[in-house]
Amino acid sequence: MKCTKRVREGDRKIAGEQEREKKKKIMKIKKGDTIIVTIGKDKGKKGKVEHVFPNEYSALITGINVYKRHMKKRDEKHPSAIIDISKPLGFGKFSIVCPSCAKPTRVGFLVTKGEKMRICRKCGKKL
Ligand SMILES: [Zn+2]
Repeated sequence: MKCTKRVREGDRKIAGEQEREKKKKIMKIKKGDTIIVTIGKDKGKKGKVEHVFPNEYSALITGINVYKRHMKKRDEKHPSAIIDISKPLGFGKFSIVCPSCAKPTRVGFLVTKGEKMRICRKCGKKL
């Protein structure tokens, strides 16, 4: 065994990858969730999750975190224009709105019969 240390380091890396894989399976935020922005320029705005980026810990929400993009004229059909595009927002910048109690809440997890469920921390109902 020449390179035991290196092997061990490799194992640790793999373990980390597996942990991340597990996290991917059930995220706190899911597509279709109603959220409310808690910080930044869109504070207080509500929106629906359009897409989740688990690796970036961010989500794309329609109408939230909108930036202007200046488009150059490409041809006659596509003249130059300033268009609004939504950029993904980090998970820490918004909180999920519970459909049962209609309050901004944090997401808890409940494991029953090996199945992991998302629950509202305020009313305890399934999200
Ligand atoms: Zn609730």
